[in-house]
Amino acid sequence: MERLEKFEDWARACMHVRCGFCRENCPAYSQLQLDTYAAKGKMTILYHLLKGKLELDEAVAERVFACTSCGLCDVACGYNQSEAIHEMKTVLYDQGVAIPEGYMKVSTKTRESGNPYSVDANEGARFLQSLPESELSTADYTLFLGCTQIYRESNEIGSLLKILRAAGVSFRIPTEQICCGSPAYRVGDEAQAREQARRVTNLFERMESDNILVSCAGCYRMLIHDYEILLNDDAKFKITHSMEFLQELVQDDKLKIRPLNAIITYHDPCHLGRHSGVYEAPRQILSSILGVKLVEMEWNRKFAKCCGAGGGFRSGRGEDAIAIAANRVREAEATGASILVTACPFCLRNLRDGAQSVNSQMKIESVESLLAELV
Ligand code: SF4
Ligand code: SF4
Repeated sequence: MERLEKFEDWARACMHVRCGFCRENCPAYSQLQLDTYAAKGKMTILYHLLKGKLELDEAVAERVFACTSCGLCDVACGYNQSEAIHEMKTVLYDQGVAIPEGYMKVSTKTRESGNPYSVDANEGARFLQSLPESELSTADYTLFLGCTQIYRESNEIGSLLKILRAAGVSFRIPTEQICCGSPAYRVGDEAQAREQARRVTNLFERMESDNILVSCAGCYRMLIHDYEILLNDDAKFKITHSMEFLQELVQDDKLKIRPLNAIITYHDPCHLGRHSGVYEAPRQILSSILGVKLVEMEWNRKFAKCCGAGGGFRSGRGEDAIAIAANRVREAEATGASILVTACPFCLRNLRDGAQSVNSQMKIESVESLLAELV
């Protein structure tokens, strides 16, 4: 409980102000419609935990874990309430409180199989080893691929590789598949997340890689922010997200891109946008395509609504996660766009499922898959 004490002032302020600004766009609140699911409710729970009026139990865990870690409440509130909520998850996990099964599975699967999808890691390694760039001993960049890309969205990898090859980028791919630790971290399993962080860092050290390319928003946030906290060490590697890297390739005219007549809107992944500040690079890539008209959804950039998948929410509350994604798809439809583009394989999956659930005609693509079709 000690690690929650630093949030007492924030919780007290929230209790007294009771403004509720954090509610409007909170995906958990918008779907579950009870104050206790918004940051406001979670901070009230935190306050009462600290005052001994509530206990760390199953009922508290049910409320606290219903959070996508999107951080939209931070923007509305001014306090980093999502940090306090993350700490509550970690304390609940550490204390061995019964956590809703779906969230717990994310951690258990990572512990048992090395990835949150429970696929034999040898399968991932075999896939990576089948890529020609995995055999290279040196290259300018090392491409780190995440579990969702490898086990669920491998077409996305094909798209990215096609673009990098077309631009003549010198890159190589590790032959070992190691989860970055983000899924375990977001459900409070700090020990396993730290273990994954050590494994990934060791991998980069063994490969003598300084320049790392990442194209999953979750991996990116983990590598640039959370590893410093988990390993209590300064960043040792230069980590670049594929959006910024591809934007430079486009700007330097390294890609010959065919025109596309389409109205497109862009969904900011929480981990890439709000948490890491990468807003403009994907928009610049899309705007550079001749014939593309880029239009914005009402809630964009740091105010972008969450797709509903993060923080273990898709695993813990699958139907709710897809319903949240469907709302985001509806928001995209209102722009008049026919293609909704994003820059995270996990958002891509959830938005696609959301679109399907409401029979939307909206085409869901990643920046990479869209670009790969045009180079
Ligand atoms: S916006 Fe902040 S202070 Fe206001 S209710 Fe929400 S968490 Fe509390
Ligand atoms: S981080 Fe997102 S889901 Fe969690 S309480 Fe804040 S706004 Fe709601």
